[in-house]
Amino acid sequence: MAEKCVFLDRDGVINRERGDYTYKVEDFEIIKGVFEALKVLKNRRYLIIVITNQAGISRGIFTRKDMKECHLYMQKQLDYMIDDLFYCPYHPDQTASLGRKPDSLLFERAMAKYHIDHAASWMAGDKERDLIPAKKTGLKTILISNDMESDYADYNAPDLITAAKEIINKP
Ligand SMILES: [Mg+2]
Repeated sequence: MAEKCVFLDRDGVINRERGDYTYKVEDFEIIKGVFEALKVLKNRRYLIIVITNQAGISRGIFTRKDMKECHLYMQKQLDYMIDDLFYCPYHPDQTASLGRKPDSLLFERAMAKYHIDHAASWMAGDKERDLIPAKKTGLKTILISNDMESDYADYNAPDLITAAKEIINKP
């Protein structure tokens, strides 16, 4: 049976956007309301899959091990509610990658792996580059922002808990 899923960007949606790479556990600050938001979505049987650009890896700023420590911390803080996480380590200065948002390869891989029902699924991100691949792959989109607007956003919400409540109230 096809699954419904809420895809999430990481930085600026789950953890606070620092305006710089976040690769140390001590800098990994989970945004207020995210735990409750995931709970709301899990209760409605959505898969939760994170899709994140982590180009600092190919730029040599941090290692996969650093990133994985942050993700283990994230999972522990969030009661392991994230079902899967796909990341793109490449930066266009070094290696072009179709996995890097705004390209859609990681979405397509996740959709194939979990038999995701595109029309019943969503993407929440804080940048237009999160929403572009989502639209391309047939997802509904929510822009998490207080001040930004985007032609690629079906809905806007200031944070993930507001977005989660919007999602469960849509048909
Ligand atoms: Mg972001």
